[in-house]
Amino acid sequence: MIQTDVLVIGAGPAGSVAAAKINKAGYSVQVVEREKFPRFVIGESLLPRCMEVLEDIDMIEELSKCGFQEKFGAKFLREDEISDFNFTSQFTKGWSWTWQVPRADFDMALIQQVIDRGVPVHFEHTVTGIQFMDGEESISDVVDKEGNTFQIKARFIVDASGYGRVIPRLFNMDKPSVLEPRKAVFSHLQDIRRASFDEPNRIIVVSYVPGVWVWIIPFSNGNTSVGFVGNREFFDQYGAYQTEQFDNLIANNPMLHARFDQVEKIFEPRKLEAWSSKTDQFFGDGFVLTGNVTEFLDPIFSSGVMFATVSSHLASQLVIQKLEGKEVNWADDYSKELQRGVDVFKSYVMAWYDGTLEKIFYAKNQDPLIKRQICSVLAGYVWDLNNPFVAEHEVILKKLARLIDAKLKLNL
Ligand code: FAD
Repeated sequence: MIQTDVLVIGAGPAGSVAAAKINKAGYSVQVVEREKFPRFVIGESLLPRCMEVLEDIDMIEELSKCGFQEKFGAKFLREDEISDFNFTSQFTKGWSWTWQVPRADFDMALIQQVIDRGVPVHFEHTVTGIQFMDGEESISDVVDKEGNTFQIKARFIVDASGYGRVIPRLFNMDKPSVLEPRKAVFSHLQDIRRASFDEPNRIIVVSYVPGVWVWIIPFSNGNTSVGFVGNREFFDQYGAYQTEQFDNLIANNPMLHARFDQVEKIFEPRKLEAWSSKTDQFFGDGFVLTGNVTEFLDPIFSSGVMFATVSSHLASQLVIQKLEGKEVNWADDYSKELQRGVDVFKSYVMAWYDGTLEKIFYAKNQDPLIKRQICSVLAGYVWDLNNPFVAEHEVILKKLARLIDAKLKLNL
């Protein structure tokens, strides 16, 4: 049996951040990861807020050597209307840029730095069972791909297993999400005609038809991630299989057709459905959940990796306090804190799908201060209570949309 201070389940961004932070504090860590890395995962557009975490765990310098495409803002397109947010003019003080990354490479670069710092990472090993003992210690069953098993005894567990949801599944903690189930169909394409388009390396969110949108995320390797998001019924009218659906969706939009028609696909289009998941309990005796395991909302604002890194960073600071023998108020200092940020994005996700945000994004004569405040939310600074678009997230978007409607009626 292996003994360790902390067992981290999963080697995605949440797992890497936890392993690096806890290792930096001098505690022993073991990482168990089900897949062989590099492995494909979707979620390629980052937010500036995650750079603060990567900076704190000394990863920026190595990541910079990977040459990922830099990202300086968020650009939304609806036919010939453009709504452009530049992170340099955001309201909250913070990072003004981040990256667009093929996640296989990005996640590999993160976990490689963890390995280089001496942390054992068991790839192609799966955590299949956990037994919590008296106090906070636990014994986890780990199985390799040949079926060989061993156990890890840990003082604490960080469950960063993403869609694997190890602890919520083992201990029946899953709850249905309040968000409507959606579907995405996506691929990576050789973006050979990129240079003939305006701002060719920028990420764009294209409104396709009401309630359906497209992400275009160019990478520095010449490929671009393209994905359609909508409800299941929407895709059914474009064919039975995702390749047919993807090709038809490209063909039916003049801009997408001009840029991507007949270009080579790096892989056949894949689909993901009903990804929103949640649990009400983010911690328990001897464990904490971080990253996607806590709650994943929706891809529209690229908040997944930001929440994965920020939640893991916060949780790791508290794990360290715990290992130092200090009292930790998990409910206030972790769950409530994290939930505050999640709730802000949830309001924006709902406002996107009910059309409120599009009304705001494409309104004429926009107030520059409001634009800067919304820009900070889009950069991931969703804990800044000085920003009314954070503090009053539940009501302020609807109020602003009503004001825009009223001005339109008066022709202002
Ligand atoms: P993951 O990256 O999923 O890592 C978890 C790891 O745990 C995996 O490697 C898995 O193999 C491992 N694991 C699982 N079970 C076990 C087990 N039993 N034992 C051991 N290991 C295990 N986010 C963004 O930031 N930007 C985007 O543009 C974006 N677009 C998205 C588009 C779509 C359609 C979807 C569905 C999501 C998108 N996301 C995006 C979200 C993003 O994919 C996730 O939020 C992000 O990957 C979460 O990171 P993580 O470290 O929590 O989990």
